Amino acid sequence: MAGSGTFAEIIDGDVFNYYSNGQWNKSSSGKFVPIINPTSNKIHFKVQACTQEEVNKAIESAKTAQKLWAKTPLWKRAELLHKAAAILKEHKAPIAECLVKEIAKPAKDAVTEVVRSGDLVSYCAEEGVRVLGEGKFLVSDSFPGNERTKYCLTSKIPLGVVLAIPPFNYPVNLAVSKIAPALISGNSIVLKPPTQGAVAALHMVHCFHLAGFPKGLISCVTGKGSEIGDFLTMHPDVNCISFTGGDTGIAISKKSAMIPLQMELGGKDACIVLEDADLDLVAANIVKGGFSYSGQRCTAVKVALVMKSVADTLVKKINDKVAKLTVGPPEDDCDITPVVTESSANFIEELVKDAKEKGATFCQEYKRKGNLIWPLLLDNVGANMRIAREEPFGPVLPVIRINSVEEGILHCNSSNFGLQGCVFTKDINKAMLVSDAMETGTVQINSAPARGPDHFPFQGLKDSGIGSQGITNSINMMTKVKTTIINLPTPSYTMG
Ligand code: NAP
Repeated sequence: MAGSGTFAEIIDGDVFNYYSNGQWNKSSSGKFVPIINPTSNKIHFKVQACTQEEVNKAIESAKTAQKLWAKTPLWKRAELLHKAAAILKEHKAPIAECLVKEIAKPAKDAVTEVVRSGDLVSYCAEEGVRVLGEGKFLVSDSFPGNERTKYCLTSKIPLGVVLAIPPFNYPVNLAVSKIAPALISGNSIVLKPPTQGAVAALHMVHCFHLAGFPKGLISCVTGKGSEIGDFLTMHPDVNCISFTGGDTGIAISKKSAMIPLQMELGGKDACIVLEDADLDLVAANIVKGGFSYSGQRCTAVKVALVMKSVADTLVKKINDKVAKLTVGPPEDDCDITPVVTESSANFIEELVKDAKEKGATFCQEYKRKGNLIWPLLLDNVGANMRIAREEPFGPVLPVIRINSVEEGILHCNSSNFGLQGCVFTKDINKAMLVSDAMETGTVQINSAPARGPDHFPFQGLKDSGIGSQGITNSINMMTKVKTTIINLPTPSYTMG
């Protein structure tokens, strides 16, 4: 059970403590933030509402701890990360249970998220030892002069305090994808977990605590982003922000100054289906890509752009599969579970109503009970409908029928987002042309968009983000290059 056994010290009464300076603490605010179970719509957990003073102390202790950590041998940092990964995987059941209760993640997917996170931490430890253990050696050339009198040594040094802010949909995985590269690189971490998902994140942080990282190196401050977010992101002692979420990231990028940012933001991932595509493969990918975790994935298929000649056949195949999706509580491991909050469900409903008014074809009846929305395929969607452009983050998928591949690319590229896209065709030449033309950070050929494997580069263009994740890219992003130049006297001899 959450907050019991190994995790007993992280809770005080019925409120989960925050973690700072190596200890689990109660906030002096005397206030808590409620976490509403999306299935019951009732308060399930409570976390401390940290004050600015407490956030400040967490950053201060992170700043102090980082100085010594930067001098800790790489193998020792890696050893602690491996230990944390093992503890995390050992405790996958209670952490997964939190994900089920806080964000209505289907039970099996919740376990997968924790195990995948442990693997990511271990891989990061291994990769860090190699990437960071290597430097460069350069010899001077003619800029200006041509004597070999200068020798340059480069190495990667940490940035300092990294602020990690993950979103609700992967509060463990998208937290460790920031924590592990930061720590292996010699940085310290201040984590601000999403409100929905905060308890799972606190359990994950306890696994790092049990692994024995130095006091102050990792902190986890809880509270609403709208209340402590600005204080954190504009704090002068934060040296890097790694953020995943929605438009909040754009606002943060405008407020922060002179520090590296890693921003993974929203998407409207398009799936272009050409006439020669294997339609069974497409249908399977669209249903999995569009509806798993009820469409609440950054890389969910968010619009299908289908050549008119194959649209009838494909829509039928998709509908046959949609009919088989199970709908219900996450505890029963249903395919479609309640979306995270009532306001998310209301927003999805707005998009559905707009599509209805503008004449979309409803392949299923629209059905909602509380936060639970039944899967819905909308056919014959037009560019004037909001669902064609906006990110529903729910189990509603629009199909736009296109006359040419150019029309599909035009629609895809007119989006303010540019996360991923995909194309289905048996012709690799056409696939490569589409990939070249799509203005997205990644294009998948004959598969739905997906994040991962976690060591692949992952990035969004336009409003979908800044910088690139993926283990090696994150390590590079969370370090800077330091050079030392050895200057020799100008030789007084000439070679004959
Ligand atoms: P969100 O509302 O932007 O929140 C993300 C995080 O920001 C949460 O931890 C939130 O805390 C915090 N926050 C809120 N206001 C803040 C402020 N003023 N300053 C600092 N932090 C603040 O996003 P979400 O609803 O959790 O996640 C869904 C979005 O994330 C979707 O748009 C999805 O596409 C995107 N996403 C992108 C990727 C990617 O890799 N590109 C991956 C997953 C999700 P509170 O919860 O306390 O408000």
